[in-house]
Amino acid sequence: MSGVAAVTLVGAGPGDPELLTVKAANALRHASVVLYDHLVGEAVLQLVPPDADLIYVGKESSSHTMEQPTIIELMVRLARSGRPVLRLKGGDGYIFGRGGEEAEGLAREGIPFTVIPGLSAAQAAGANAGIPLTHRAHAATLVFATGHGREDSEPELDWDALARPRQTVVIYMGVGTLPLISRRLVDHGLTADTPAAIVERASLPGERCLVGTLGTLPALAREHAVRPPALLIIGSVVSLQPLLSAGSAVHRPR
Ligand code: SAH
Repeated sequence: MSGVAAVTLVGAGPGDPELLTVKAANALRHASVVLYDHLVGEAVLQLVPPDADLIYVGKESSSHTMEQPTIIELMVRLARSGRPVLRLKGGDGYIFGRGGEEAEGLAREGIPFTVIPGLSAAQAAGANAGIPLTHRAHAATLVFATGHGREDSEPELDWDALARPRQTVVIYMGVGTLPLISRRLVDHGLTADTPAAIVERASLPGERCLVGTLGTLPALAREHAVRPPALLIIGSVVSLQPLLSAGSAVHRPR
């Protein structure tokens, strides 16, 4: 009988394979079985050896290919059968990636695991769109929040805390709830002319950045048919975008 193998939870970064860490790329090149999510780019998967098993476990917010407990069970079973598992997640696994839940499941079952961090979408979005997420003249606090509510209900967020001054708020999974987010932030004290941007497909082909204000962004996103994956960036740092982006202030296709 073979011993228990380890699981490596790997952050795949925002999509561009050049934004993988060297450590993640090395782990991928030596992988034997890979469980990956829908946000992992095709180009990243190309690094896996041709004889490795690639298992798609999906998980778009609305259609879960495999439920979370099933994914954990599968990893546990593979590891106990002696097969090292590479669990690949978009961005960073510990930032809105349910990596924490999976690590918990593995720890409870006594399966050894390591975590390789990845660049999160917010970092790629800021860099590519020309929006520094912090800046001494604009924001001393940076908040990452989820715009996704349970079963499509309103996200459970502390709106007063999100509407504080001198702060940048980055919202993941917020395309569907953008009109509500914009309304709530204004109700809780931000002005409707607070600069706000939406960055779609950061670091991927077809990347776009739309810049407006909290008041105008919902209509802008609708007009331009913005689709996930996209991030909202809210706060005065967004006013630097026209100066810092190399291309047009509104639309930056690649
Ligand atoms: N763990 C990931 C986040 C997963 S949650 C990370 O650290 O980046 C999924 C959400 O992440 C998407 O709905 C979107 O809001 C954001 N996202 C992921 N990849 C993105 C990309 N390339 N461009 C813009 N947003 C992205």
